[in-house]
Amino acid sequence: MAQLIADRSDVDFVLFEQMGIEELAQTKQFDEFNKKTVKMIVNEARNLAIKEILPTNAEGDRDGCVFEDGKVKTPASFKKIFRLLGEGGWIATIDDPAVGGQGMPTIVANACAEYFCGANCAFMIYPGIAHGAGKLIETFGTEKQKTLFLEKMYAGKWGGSMFLTEPQAGTDVGALTTSAVKNPDGTYTITGSKIFITGAEQDLTENIIHPVLARIEGAPKGTKGISLFIVPKIWVKDDGSLGDLNDVRCDGIEEKLGIHGSATCSVTLGASGKCRGLLLGEENKGMRAMFHMMNEARLGVGMQSLSLASSAYLYAVEYAKQRLQGKHLLKMADPAAPQVPIINHPDIRRMLIWMKAHVSGMRSLNYYVGLCFDKVLTAENDADRSLWQGLIELLTPIVKAYSADKSFEVCTQAVQVYGGYGYIQEYPVEQLLRDSKIFSIYEGSNGIQAMDLLARKLGMAKGEHFMNLIAEIKKTASLAEKIKGLAPIAAEVEAAADQLVECAFSLGQNAMSDKVLTAFSHAYPFLEIMGDVVLSWLLLWRAVVAFPELEKRLANVDEEKKSDIIRKNSEAAFYDGQIRQAEYFAFSVLPLSMGKIKNIKNFDGSAVKMAEASF
Ligand SMILES: Cc1cc2nc3c(=O)[nH]c(=O)nc-3n(C[C@H](O)[C@H](O)[C@H](O)COP(=O)(O)OP(=O)(O)OC[C@H]3O[C@@H](n4cnc5c(N)ncnc54)[C@H](O)[C@@H]3O)c2cc1C
Repeated sequence: MAQLIADRSDVDFVLFEQMGIEELAQTKQFDEFNKKTVKMIVNEARNLAIKEILPTNAEGDRDGCVFEDGKVKTPASFKKIFRLLGEGGWIATIDDPAVGGQGMPTIVANACAEYFCGANCAFMIYPGIAHGAGKLIETFGTEKQKTLFLEKMYAGKWGGSMFLTEPQAGTDVGALTTSAVKNPDGTYTITGSKIFITGAEQDLTENIIHPVLARIEGAPKGTKGISLFIVPKIWVKDDGSLGDLNDVRCDGIEEKLGIHGSATCSVTLGASGKCRGLLLGEENKGMRAMFHMMNEARLGVGMQSLSLASSAYLYAVEYAKQRLQGKHLLKMADPAAPQVPIINHPDIRRMLIWMKAHVSGMRSLNYYVGLCFDKVLTAENDADRSLWQGLIELLTPIVKAYSADKSFEVCTQAVQVYGGYGYIQEYPVEQLLRDSKIFSIYEGSNGIQAMDLLARKLGMAKGEHFMNLIAEIKKTASLAEKIKGLAPIAAEVEAAADQLVECAFSLGQNAMSDKVLTAFSHAYPFLEIMGDVVLSWLLLWRAVVAFPELEKRLANVDEEKKSDIIRKNSEAAFYDGQIRQAEYFAFSVLPLSMGKIKNIKNFDGSAVKMAEASF
């Protein structure tokens, strides 16, 4: 069976037709990134992903990581692909060339990341955190720290990690007990234990630079007393050469449901009292800095989610076209009727269209937020900059949590389409399902994302960011209303946006009243509804772009022959598919979201009222 990851036609459609990224090449910031160059970059990423990274995916899952004598062995094939990513400049795609980056628009980097993560999601976490840790140093480090660490991290010579979690401090990072004491030479002695740390130990790079959260002796309790430190695995001397091994001990790795190739480590810092760190940024401002990395990681989880969902959908479609089982429903009474590919069965089509609509919507959502970053960089005035930055802030919890949950559901549906074969290891969807479960848990669990949306993001700038999003939705709806074939879909999307506004205001008010507990019990359903409305908009936007393209291909064709053309002409099928999925989402998914809005308006408080003893 072919190995399937991102759908190139759809990637190109989103980049060039929906998001119109050729406009970016008109700006000074991105003037090198014309259509030809972007296509070449995405081709290169696709080739690297398919030829080199994808073949390591099943092996990485099967062999996983091995812990021996304090060392972690990653799957054997990972070393070469890590080196290739570093040498090709794929770790620092969006960063300034002055610090070793490629200076790419984020939306283009997202298209590349979709290929890489789809090829081997567990592996891609290593370069992802190396970049995130490097970005922290680039943003908050001193000139000396940047000189010592940045180039090697962005080039893939040194890895990175993020040390937040402790046994008693998971979601509640403020409860951490790792401590830091200042030494006369300005370094800090760090002591503590961390768990669940991805890539805290690995054999891919000669050194690993750990950003570690710890509390300086005497600092306030909670998040206000947390500082951030650079703790290299091997100390880096002032001239950049490597010194002694630091006192960072990996005690073991976790056996997990999925992402077996990614090492999840328990670590002791300072077992011999000799763990040294450098303060990164200001004392007690560590959480603010770490949020920088976490926000990048949350958007990264959105891309991971899209990538695996895309793969699962493509495998399911291919399987459904090949697997013969059962007769056609219209020929059930005919004993001589042959078995048909299962894609002919309406129930399989129901699952496939659900998957297609969500994958397409997630691709548009993740790429759109990438484009918002590019618009921030190229904005001509403060008002525009604040518009795009506001949309990033608002949409980050949706990108993370909604994509995570939908990805898992898409993978579940893919297993269902395969039937029994989907449940066994010989076929790829079983691994995708296991790998995708982590997305809703790490980088701030989905419940926490929902609270962030309700408590912070909705009300930011007095609700202006939220209303800007609604205005963007309405702009698309008013374009669609003018197209006869899309007007009914536009009406549904617009009505849903209006209902979302009403729901947001009433839930937001309740969240600030004595009904706060009940309000927060509805935070996650609200995030899901908002995700649905955003997706319905992005799918409508796709349909607006696709409609004239389809018309061109059906011009001068008799009514009864149109479906024939759509069946036989791949471009016509592609554009028709854009319209069908928007229609499906508006008429089959949005009504369920509107039901959930009714539930929030009813303000059912059962979850909160239920006595603990009754659970
Ligand atoms: C594979 C893997 C890789 C990881 N990589 C890293 C890493 O590299 N670095 C790192 O520091 N950590 C890492 N983590 C840790 C991860 O971020 C935490 O597991 C996550 O933050 C949740 O913390 P917890 O597991 O302690 O769960 P808990 O915090 O105990 O949460 C349990 C449940 O309670 C909910 N909950 C908790 N508090 C609240 C609240 N106040 N309100 C509402 N609901 C709440 C949560 O949403 C969750 O559903 C990783 C974890 C895994 C499994």
